[in-house]
Amino acid sequence: MAYCAKCGSQLNESDKACGNCGEPVPGANRAPETTSSNDMWMGILSYLGLLALIPYLVKDQSAFVRSHAVRGIVGLASFAFSLIGIINVANKEDKDLPVIGNIRLIKG
Ligand SMILES: [Zn+2]
Repeated sequence: MAYCAKCGSQLNESDKACGNCGEPVPGANRAPETTSSNDMWMGILSYLGLLALIPYLVKDQSAFVRSHAVRGIVGLASFAFSLIGIINVANKEDKDLPVIGNIRLIKG
């Protein structure tokens, strides 16, 4: 049986904090803090179109946010290429896409 380090009250094994004084129980199961909530929101922004630029451009983001921002921007770029392609089709033009149009493999 464990006792509160602060007030000496008896603790149940499932308690995360002392029922008497609220002192956190050491070693209680807590959510591991791998990702802060800021990181989470910035990570989500990474996949919301142009908003991906926010986590990408804001300085001092964690590596976690940065890697998601880069993935988001890659997705955004492929979406932009698709749009350009659709516009070319709509204009009945046979234009190369910018940048990737020069890659022989894609050109076929
Ligand atoms: Zn206590």
